[in-house]
Amino acid sequence: MTKAAAALSLVLLLLPAAAARAQAPVTYVVTFPEPEHHWVQVEATFPDVGTAPLDVHMSRSSPGRYAAHDFAKNVFAFAAYNGRGRALTPSRPGVDVWRVAGHDGTVRVVYRLFGDHADGTYLGVDTTHAHLNMPATFVWAAGLDLRPIDVRFTPPAGSNWRAATQLYPTEDPTHFTAPNLQYFMDSPTELANLVTSAFDVPDARGQRAHFRLMVHSSAGQSDVDALAARVARVVREEMAVFGEFPPYEPGHYTFILDLVGWAEPDAMEHRNSTYISSPGLDLRTEDGRLQALDMIAHEFFHVWNVERIRPAGLEPFDFTRANVTCCLWLAEGFTEYYGPLLLERAGLIDLGAGVASEALEAAASAARGVRSAVEISEQAPFADAAVANDVNDRSRTYVSYYTLGASIALALDLTLRERFDDRLSLDDYMRLLWQKFGRHEGRPGYVSMPYSLKDLRDALAELTGDRAFADDFFTRYIDGRETPDFAHLLTTVGVSSSGREPWIGGPPPVTMEAGGIRLGSADPRPGEWLAPFDSPLYTAGLDGGDRLVSIDGEAATPARWQQAIRRAPGTRVSLAGLRRDGRPFTTTLVIGERPAETHVMAAPDALTDAQRRRLTAWLGSRVP
Ligand SMILES: [Zn+2]
Repeated sequence: MTKAAAALSLVLLLLPAAAARAQAPVTYVVTFPEPEHHWVQVEATFPDVGTAPLDVHMSRSSPGRYAAHDFAKNVFAFAAYNGRGRALTPSRPGVDVWRVAGHDGTVRVVYRLFGDHADGTYLGVDTTHAHLNMPATFVWAAGLDLRPIDVRFTPPAGSNWRAATQLYPTEDPTHFTAPNLQYFMDSPTELANLVTSAFDVPDARGQRAHFRLMVHSSAGQSDVDALAARVARVVREEMAVFGEFPPYEPGHYTFILDLVGWAEPDAMEHRNSTYISSPGLDLRTEDGRLQALDMIAHEFFHVWNVERIRPAGLEPFDFTRANVTCCLWLAEGFTEYYGPLLLERAGLIDLGAGVASEALEAAASAARGVRSAVEISEQAPFADAAVANDVNDRSRTYVSYYTLGASIALALDLTLRERFDDRLSLDDYMRLLWQKFGRHEGRPGYVSMPYSLKDLRDALAELTGDRAFADDFFTRYIDGRETPDFAHLLTTVGVSSSGREPWIGGPPPVTMEAGGIRLGSADPRPGEWLAPFDSPLYTAGLDGGDRLVSIDGEAATPARWQQAIRRAPGTRVSLAGLRRDGRPFTTTLVIGERPAETHVMAAPDALTDAQRRRLTAWLGSRVP
């Protein structure tokens, strides 16, 4: 301790008792009495909570995952006590809440929790590890959001578990702190026999940032070191987009990889760490390391985009409900675009025409034009790990905000490069967003200037000095449902789309039945296959479950159907059939054209000078 710090602690001792009490930390003690049975015991103590009943919550949502969950469903053996150990009986005003009354200013709760689901959201415990996502594991008390948090993990006796986490370290390797609840909840922790590789990367101003890879897998030190060397290249390339690393408050950024065979494939961003779970990923192979890099390149971009350049709808995160935002097309979609692009710039992959794949997939999606990018973003709570019992029509009304957002990123990147003669690119836009909204320092775990949709539009106007351009782009492609002209944009970098093929909007699976064929499976369930809006099938009044009895006057067979739908665009096919209740109908199907789905990168010697220049500026390294 320095002299100044000693003087400061003396001052703190002399502060009025009330002020000191306001900061009394919430403490958690975590034990694993029987890890082979997949449960954890948590003891949480909330001191100095006044006299009113205290509401103790399990979360309903988890940062980075957009559906609502009821983590309380896995809690059992819940008990509450006052500060002297007297048992109290909580009431249950809600399924995720225990209300503890009659306490003495301190509430201590002890509970057990089942979990065997290692991914980016849930809890997994066994004899090899504890995979802890905090909202799925820890109760919290209403009104104590700004209290510091103190957590101690007690690994099972005889285990060699260490902790991988963005929690603040102490001298005791099982004891951590967090400055507040928001930070704590965003700090997943892997306890296991870990292999660690650490490295430093200087930013553009020469400040060194510290990174750690902490891996639970069968890979050895040399495999993890080999991955770390490649991760360092990605990290450099990503920093070059933004110009600097943010401060990593605990002193380091941690890539946590949990590669046990029974994990669920997932990767989740956090403020100063990412938690990747991937069964079967083998870091001893080049292919396995490349798979890891693919996830790491995406997740690390989130250090800026979403963790600090953050939409207002996610800030601060509300753990009692699903959190809705305008802008996952940017937060996830632009990140999805940059992941492979930055691996290419770092020289770790060769994308070729693959740069355009997601754009074309989104452009060809049945749902394109049905919901805007903003509306798709608002669907996330129904799409991201959401569970529903009823039939949905997502096949024709939903395109992932990853795919759609990546396609918008590509369109904006190529549009800026073309329109502003290679003086501007999407990198400049991202850097401006970082400077305007991301880099302001505030309380760790919080973002002091989250953005609105209007902020994004205004920033594009500011970057380009062209308000009309920014308004037009947002009105058409973000708020609106138009599809950018990818065929043209891609030619500017030497990528051409495939020719048009016959298409009817699917095609649906067909099943041979007595007297005809059915659109769909033999025993179609409602919603199993739906004709996309505005497709030739839809326009002809055909949908899943309909049975066709004749095609152009001849008996309907799968072979005749396949032949009919491959005819030239514009061909008219006469159909007669029966609805699922047996009522007859007749209609005419007009064969359409498939939206472009494939793409070809021109051979290097076939590129024009302008194409080659732009391609190099776009895909080349930006690391000085
Ligand atoms: Zn992401």
